[in-house]
Amino acid sequence: MNNPSKTKRVEPRIRQEQRTIDAMLGIYCQDHHGGGRGLCDDCEPLRLYAHQRLVACPFQVQKPVCNRCEVHCYSALRREQVRQVMRYAGPRMPLRHPWLAFLHMLDKLRRVPSLAQLRARAKRGAATGHGARAEKQSKP
Ligand SMILES: [Zn+2]
Repeated sequence: MNNPSKTKRVEPRIRQEQRTIDAMLGIYCQDHHGGGRGLCDDCEPLRLYAHQRLVACPFQVQKPVCNRCEVHCYSALRREQVRQVMRYAGPRMPLRHPWLAFLHMLDKLRRVPSLAQLRARAKRGAATGHGARAEKQSKP
């Protein structure tokens, strides 16, 4: 059947963020670079970069929306690129991807965790046997 060591499970919260960036890049690329179905050669690497950053996000299930996050995980260049994409695609999301836009709106209401809190919690979790693993079981 499926091999868990090979297919690293992506947190649903992170999957949703990946879908959101895909949708935003789709809007931006279509309107600026005339992309048909896929993204153009400039936007596709940005998409892959964003996906990598999301998978590496230390907050995972607690991830805040990126522009409120204290961790600056993007390079200066990528940060500026993605900011441009979001500035353009953000206001257009409710029309083209209402459901994702709605979820993103809810995410804006999330408490923004700090890295220090996250580390303290991981430490406690390691000491008591609770923590990230226990949290994972609370599926919606
Ligand atoms: Zn493009």
